[in-house]
Amino acid sequence: MIEIENVRKSFGPLEVLKGIDLIVQKGEVVTVIGGSGSGKSTLLTCINGLEPIDSGRVVIDGTEVHAKSTDLNKLRRKVGIVFQQWNAFPHLTVLENVMLAPRKVLGLSKDKAEEIAVKQLTHVGLGEKLEVYPNRMSGGQQQRMAIARALAMSPEYMLFDEVTSALDPMLVGEVLDTLKMLAEEGMTMICVTHEMAFARDVSKRVAFFHQGIMTEIGTPDQIFGAPQHPETQKFLASVR
Ligand code: ADP
Ligand code: MG
Repeated sequence: MIEIENVRKSFGPLEVLKGIDLIVQKGEVVTVIGGSGSGKSTLLTCINGLEPIDSGRVVIDGTEVHAKSTDLNKLRRKVGIVFQQWNAFPHLTVLENVMLAPRKVLGLSKDKAEEIAVKQLTHVGLGEKLEVYPNRMSGGQQQRMAIARALAMSPEYMLFDEVTSALDPMLVGEVLDTLKMLAEEGMTMICVTHEMAFARDVSKRVAFFHQGIMTEIGTPDQIFGAPQHPETQKFLASVR
């Protein structure tokens, strides 16, 4: 499980996370919503140790992420992250791109890495695109490739940061369907998203962020049906 305890984080004088508490259980899907600049992305990068924190703790399966003794490379194998955009290596095929980390980071043999990459690419519906070069694919296919690449490391947790935000509206559905499939398979996920229908549909809980504070968290019915905090109400009214 992921335990976030009173996490504070500033960039210079700007406090971006003002004491965040959140526990995500194994198998749970939590979506994070909120306005631009509210600290959603920073939270994700603090969870997998890409960013240091100023105080508080992030503990993943008993390992304190920001402790000096923590092997961050090992931790990041356990916690996959997918961003709005991932720049694949243009001179490598889709298959070669997805094989790279299992080869280099996990030290797997070429055959084993290929087996895993084919399996994950097939899983996200790209089984026919193995030998294609990334820039020949649609944005939606590229995002599914990025998801396959993260899954090829056999993570136990996945963090998704607005993975559909850079896509043409037409291509959003296929990527959300992929996330939904992972959720249904029991993957533990934290998804930052602007897709409210998706958040409502897939999450066990929805967290609303406002100016570095998690002002409200609850079931989709609670957050979308009867938001308590005025800022949540305002935000939801603005996105509807
Ligand atoms: P969100 O993902 O909710 O839009 P972010 O977590 O990206 O918000 O950013 C929160 C605030 O922190 C913003 O004001 C942003 O400009 C600032 N910020 C984010 N990353 C950095 C950084 N590396 N250096 C300085 N300021 C940053
Ligand atoms: Mg962001």
